[in-house]
Amino acid sequence: MSENLPFEERYYQPPYKQLYRQSLEEPEKFWREMAEGLEWFSPFDKVLDESNAPFYRWFVGGKINITYNALDRQVKVRRNKIAIYWENEKGESRQLTYGELYNEVNRFAKILQDLGIKKGDRVLIYLPLMPELPIAMLACARIGAVHSVVFSGFSTQAVIDRINDAKAKLVITTSHTMRRGKRVELKRIIDEAVSQTPSVEKVLVIKRDEEIELNEERDVLYQDLIKRTGYKKVEPEETLSTDPLFILYTSGTTGKPKGILHLHGGYGLWTYLTTQWVFDLRDNDIFFNTADIGWITGHSYIVYGPLQNGASVLMYEGVPDYPNPDRWWELVEKYGVTVFYTSPTAIRSLMRYGEEWVKKHDLSTLRILGSVGEPINPEAWRWYFKNVGNSSLPIVDTWWQTETGGIMISATPGLGNYLLKPSANGLPLPGVDADVFTEDGKQAKPREKGYIVIKRPWPGMLAGVWGDPERYVKTYFSKFPGVYYPGDYAVRDEEGFFYILGRADEVLKIAGHRIGTREIEDILISHPAVAESAVIGVPDPVRGEVAVAAVVLKQGYQPSEELRKSLIEYVKNNLGPIVIFGGLYFVSKLPKTRSGKIMRRVVRSVISGQPLGDVSTLEDETSVDELKKVIEEFT
Ligand code: ATP
Ligand code: MG
Repeated sequence: MSENLPFEERYYQPPYKQLYRQSLEEPEKFWREMAEGLEWFSPFDKVLDESNAPFYRWFVGGKINITYNALDRQVKVRRNKIAIYWENEKGESRQLTYGELYNEVNRFAKILQDLGIKKGDRVLIYLPLMPELPIAMLACARIGAVHSVVFSGFSTQAVIDRINDAKAKLVITTSHTMRRGKRVELKRIIDEAVSQTPSVEKVLVIKRDEEIELNEERDVLYQDLIKRTGYKKVEPEETLSTDPLFILYTSGTTGKPKGILHLHGGYGLWTYLTTQWVFDLRDNDIFFNTADIGWITGHSYIVYGPLQNGASVLMYEGVPDYPNPDRWWELVEKYGVTVFYTSPTAIRSLMRYGEEWVKKHDLSTLRILGSVGEPINPEAWRWYFKNVGNSSLPIVDTWWQTETGGIMISATPGLGNYLLKPSANGLPLPGVDADVFTEDGKQAKPREKGYIVIKRPWPGMLAGVWGDPERYVKTYFSKFPGVYYPGDYAVRDEEGFFYILGRADEVLKIAGHRIGTREIEDILISHPAVAESAVIGVPDPVRGEVAVAAVVLKQGYQPSEELRKSLIEYVKNNLGPIVIFGGLYFVSKLPKTRSGKIMRRVVRSVISGQPLGDVSTLEDETSVDELKKVIEEFT
């Protein structure tokens, strides 16, 4: 009877699997096909040049300009589609169609040319999230100049260091931005900085609402130049695939920031593809990425990835909890955002205000959520999934770095792969030959902790560390010969899912057991009293190392000896008695980078009484003073 029933043992396989296999089995053919997704001025001779490894070069001999793909190509088919929606704290808004963006970039490019900026010159951009930021970046790229965007929250010294490292010829800035209703003066910081930066010839100032004081010899007003120049079309420079596109400094979480260099062709292709694979952007999507463009996440997934795909992006100049903690959800509702991308640190900060703020809004247009920047702890994951994702949307937990140019490990809804496991990042993207190595360079067994490595080059990889080839080789290619070493600690399960466990230098070795500081932090955060924590290891004569924690309590909880003891107990109950604490301190805030990441190295320096090292990217110095005080009081 049952012979004719349509039973089937095979499953439909999402394209992901096939593409992944193909990318590693026939890389040459694979990348040639992928590169056809972009428009080239002239074809490349070679897919990958490994002759000067580890300085790999992609699509050698080919000519391509990323702005041709982001603008000229889009204008032909979607001139009137909105490219950028913009809104600020006050609810003021602007929007630019692809046609308008194209015109703005052309005008800006002409002005750069008139200011004497040529191919290869470095331009430092110090702007908040205003539409002129992507416009300025694209204008630089259009004429083959190299932009270096510095996050507008950085102070004078950080700006000076970056200008001098890149030897920038021009600085682009504006008067101010608003943060929580207060003016943040930006031009003033540049005024201070450029007295110590001999390479800078001019400062191009974009007027916002009111008159700005100018230094007659040095400053030029963008609006004046526009009036004088009028509209001129500037053909994109026919840059080589291997010509520099930008330098971007890393967050400085683990040490002195590195000037990461990316090139037109490889970076262009990688951001173009990964935007499709991970975010699955289609013509009617509205993509809201809450990152600042001063970080790689904004470069790749506000500017270059989405625009090369003709997508609409929402840019918000402001913080998530001002005027109220529902500011982002208000925007999601207002613009009908479909894909939303943010960081665990932001989720944790919004969690504190309670879920009522999310519930006030209709978020039903959302279809994909994303996370980036740090491992997302289970508490935050659940909150995000339940409240923002209505317990139904996929959360793509995208692991990548400034150095990788684009996403490396994640679920890939755009390739039909929605397989997700909370707290796992997922599977490597096509072309990403990721693995986990043990300390001695052998492949780790499933569930065995080790270091994530990438065993062959991919198009989005950094081309170098600006001005420091040795640091490039030393940082990324010397721990394990011949493979790229990202510096993160990881584990993989039997199905090949990767779990990034935190920074490699944030691993404790207590009595022979290797435990990521993040594992201890995750447990602490799951305690009802704890909002945030930073755990570090300090040497211990008996156990090798012991854990020390700095803990921020949730509102309504007070530090006490009893709570201290019960937190330590709680960690032991959950992770095992091997976790020995050398101290647990209560503070009101943790030292963080301006991108919101915990600077455990700073906590370590304070606790061990060592010099702080490079703190140019530290968000709030009072966090360090407080920690010092708390420790002194305790000991
Ligand atoms: P620096 O290299 O100067 O110390 P940084 O590493 O913080 O700064 P970024 O390039 O902005 O600078 O961050 C990349 C790092 O962020 C990764 O190496 C990883 O440690 C962490 N990271 C990013 N996304 C994720 C994620 N989804 N899951 C886990 N970790 C992540
Ligand atoms: Mg890093």
